Amino acid sequence: HAASSDDPFASLNPAQRAAVEHDIGVAAGSARPLLVIAGAGSGKTNTLAHRVARLIMSGADPQRILLLTFSRRAANEMTQRASNVLHRIMGARGGQPPASLPWAGTVHSIGARLLRDYAGRIGLEESFTIHDRGDSEDLMGMVRHDIGLTQTEKRFPLKGTCLAIYSRVVNSRDTLALVLQSTFPWCSEWEAQLKTLFGAYVDAKQEQNVLDYDDLLLFWAEMAADPDLGAHIGGLFDHVLVDEYQDTNRLQAAILMGMKPGGEGVMVVGDDAQSIYSFRGATVRNILDFPKQFAQEACIVTLDRNYRSTQPILDASNAVIGAALERHAKTLWTDKVSTVRPQLVLIPDEAEQARWVCNRILEHRETGMALKAQAVLFRAASHSAALELELMRRNIPFVKFGGLKFLEASHIKDVLAVLRFAQNPSGRVAGFRVVQLVPGIGAATATRLLDAVGEAAEPLRAVEQFAAPARSGGDWEQFVALFRALRAPGLRWPADIELVKNWYLPHLERMYDDAQVRVADVEQLARLAGGHGSRETFLAEITLDPPEATSDRAGPPLLDEDYLILSTIHSSKGQEWKSVHVLNVVDGCIPSDMSTGNAADIEEERRLLYVAMTRAKEHLHLVVPNRFFIKQQAQMGDRHVYAARTRFISPAMLKHFEETVWMTADTQQSRTPMPDSVRMLVRERARNAWK
Ligand code: ATP
Ligand code: MG
Repeated sequence: HAASSDDPFASLNPAQRAAVEHDIGVAAGSARPLLVIAGAGSGKTNTLAHRVARLIMSGADPQRILLLTFSRRAANEMTQRASNVLHRIMGARGGQPPASLPWAGTVHSIGARLLRDYAGRIGLEESFTIHDRGDSEDLMGMVRHDIGLTQTEKRFPLKGTCLAIYSRVVNSRDTLALVLQSTFPWCSEWEAQLKTLFGAYVDAKQEQNVLDYDDLLLFWAEMAADPDLGAHIGGLFDHVLVDEYQDTNRLQAAILMGMKPGGEGVMVVGDDAQSIYSFRGATVRNILDFPKQFAQEACIVTLDRNYRSTQPILDASNAVIGAALERHAKTLWTDKVSTVRPQLVLIPDEAEQARWVCNRILEHRETGMALKAQAVLFRAASHSAALELELMRRNIPFVKFGGLKFLEASHIKDVLAVLRFAQNPSGRVAGFRVVQLVPGIGAATATRLLDAVGEAAEPLRAVEQFAAPARSGGDWEQFVALFRALRAPGLRWPADIELVKNWYLPHLERMYDDAQVRVADVEQLARLAGGHGSRETFLAEITLDPPEATSDRAGPPLLDEDYLILSTIHSSKGQEWKSVHVLNVVDGCIPSDMSTGNAADIEEERRLLYVAMTRAKEHLHLVVPNRFFIKQQAQMGDRHVYAARTRFISPAMLKHFEETVWMTADTQQSRTPMPDSVRMLVRERARNAWK
């Protein structure tokens, strides 16, 4: 077996190997469609990475491989895994492994790139900017105001709800009426007004040369549906590989079909039991229908061996998903024996939960398990608040995924808005924000300026000639100078960001008391900018896949530092840790009280718990606080509620867990034992009281 130790494919099991070797010998771009459908931790992602390596090894051009993943982090990891495999092969043969896969990324970032390349052919101006969710909501709000809906209809849905409805219609390809009926029944009475609003919203985006997230898919799907352009774009790739296919929506399936109607070179992997994004319009039908969607039938590979978790963790996870109303892929097995059952911890409240989790984490670390090998997962980003405080108190470094994003901080939004406005002066959301940073300029003046810019043939001239209010004097002149510099033809990225930074920092110090941390964030942004080739790619990437940490906490840890991962369950998809804690495993959190409506929603919450549990390799701790805090509708106020263990763990399933009870709520005082010195003192005094 001396040879096989160098063979990175030797470790694959026969089913994985079949997927990796599928149609390897055939001519470029003619492999039959392939579906790998299998449970958590069965090696789907690993198989995908090996297939990429195998394809390149047999002569496929890395430039012609499209690899779609759930996040940029996942794309990087996959690229890394594939090049490791290649390194082992090529290294042994003295060849050079390819440095990168230029077409690996999220569907949105790849969409943005293609749209930039083909803008001219579909009547889009190349200078378009991309709106994040917040910007899109703002534009929706502006449009709603412009067409007079907010004035006449006081109860009209909020801008965020309007955007959610619009987005759902686009992604599901259903009619507005159907979406309202199925998902937003309380908005049904507004159907006619919403139609008008969405029409105006689409017009505004076009006039202002901005795209929202949904447009990136929508335009791509339209390009793919066009007979010429679709074939052309499909022809750019010999292989199209998609991870986490169970969480794609109809629009994404349409893109795939448009590019590759015969399914040539298409490979998707996923797990119907882990479909958790239907609230964003994803549909598990995509993966179930995949085998018969193309001109030729797809080959199917299933995997049933789990390489991630110990048998007791798998038993518990299998039991939870086994109770689902729909039958999913069959039960997984593993040869990782262990006597440690997953732990179900009953605890008085969230404060205790935070303390208990910190204790376990430190205990694990004592045994040599790095913080990075551990994670704490929760249903909603706000659920980790108590834990974050406790972690900070104990100086345990952590990074949070899926929470407040770097990009949502207002000072970061300011800087990006300036860059966006310089790139695309027609964009009113960015423009409105930027212009009002100049002291003395308010909403009315900003609107006048943006109107002038919108009508002008040359935006710079319009800005230069604008009669700004006298009170903004020198500040206005400085802004004009900045705008001129940013629009100058010879400017070489990332010089832009230095210009913006120098202009912005004095304003920042004027506007915020805590300017210092914010300055650090802006510096951080400038550093990030250096890693990108141009203003367009930087803006697109940072909008589509923003960094996660902000200065609201201690700031992102250094790369080589050890830190704990905090993550929403949704963002933990595809990942694994030696030890996993799941917070608030109670009814009202999982399932969330917002989704206790219909059976389909409840089922999705069950799958969510399954996803959380199957992230664990060796230790799994589910924590059940007896009381927890819920944020409610404004009029009802926040409050504590009593809770019970999640309904997804039935009494019959308890045998799979080790139950631990951690004190009762009545013994609150006893949780911080008095130091010995204090106790002695009290006893001493009591003993001498009679004297
Ligand atoms: P998920 O459904 O959670 O995304 P997955 O099916 O994509 O899981 P992977 O993440 O690819 O699973 O693999 C899970 C773990 O099992 C990884 O640590 C991976 O390295 C390991 N693994 C996969 N296949 C094998 C194998 N043949 N031999 C040894 N380890 C393997
Ligand atoms: Mg995976």
